[in-house]
Amino acid sequence: MGAVTAIMLFVSVLLHELGHSVVALRYKVPVRSITLFIFGGVAQIGAEPPSAIAEFLIAIAGPLVSLALAALFNAVQHLATDGQPLWGLVKYLAYLNNLALVLFNLIPGYPLDGGRVFRAIVWAITHNMQRATRMATNMGRFFGFLFIFVGFLRVFRGDLGGLWIAFIGWFLHNAASAQGYQVKFQTLLAGHTVSQAMSGHCAAVPADLTLQQLVDEHILSGGQRCFLVNRGAGTVGLMTLHRIKEVPRGEWPTTSAAQAMLPLEKLKRVSPDKELWTALQQMDRAGVNQLLVMTDGQVVGMLSREDVITYLSTLQELGA
Ligand SMILES: [Zn+2]
Repeated sequence: MGAVTAIMLFVSVLLHELGHSVVALRYKVPVRSITLFIFGGVAQIGAEPPSAIAEFLIAIAGPLVSLALAALFNAVQHLATDGQPLWGLVKYLAYLNNLALVLFNLIPGYPLDGGRVFRAIVWAITHNMQRATRMATNMGRFFGFLFIFVGFLRVFRGDLGGLWIAFIGWFLHNAASAQGYQVKFQTLLAGHTVSQAMSGHCAAVPADLTLQQLVDEHILSGGQRCFLVNRGAGTVGLMTLHRIKEVPRGEWPTTSAAQAMLPLEKLKRVSPDKELWTALQQMDRAGVNQLLVMTDGQVVGMLSREDVITYLSTLQELGA
């Protein structure tokens, strides 16, 4: 019976997430993955919604699905006869679970659904998405602390169930902080372009060069970190340190650059005057760790996540 309840809870959460996804897709906001967790999911949306109203509708869709499910289970529960105690209990649990899901998700702390609704409202009033996000993530942190506090208070009173509440609070606090950092980085990177952070002047190496030669002659002695792999006069791929590390050291003398490189046709491109934040989002959407920086059909450099992180830490140190 516990298994049936667990499956029903799982299906309920899945339907809730589908509610978000359907609306998100309508606004052409890509949903990368759906994360299910104990008390309902936090759908991972690949990019920021285009407007406050889109944010509001995407956020509210999940709780509305849960609410409909709760109403449905409630109606079905009344139909259960006294002769079927087990079936009735299952339905009662499913109903309870859904109501708990709705209530938890409606807490106005980002990134919970209620927090997204809160952010959408502040965004609509202030016309400032970053300020709205900051307020909503602070609310998320506050509710996280509150849950931790209440949880431990319960534990001290002898109720070990309080540990779960504290754990959920910790989770919420972390999620809110992570979102808060994202906004901070976005603010820091505003106005900065790809050309400022990219690794430029990638050295060109021939396609048949072995990884051993590349490491000995170019990386250890030359200090280069980014290479264009050339065949004849044309560039056919890109080589990164990360790519070399994926090949076992023993195979370096027999593996050619062409075998280990990222082929040109598989690389996503970006122009040097694009905003860094836009480039990061492009990497996220494509699920890649670097972009080829091109202008007028010429490779002018490479932008990796490491490049952006290094640039961010420089910006932070300078207090710019
Ligand atoms: Zn939700």
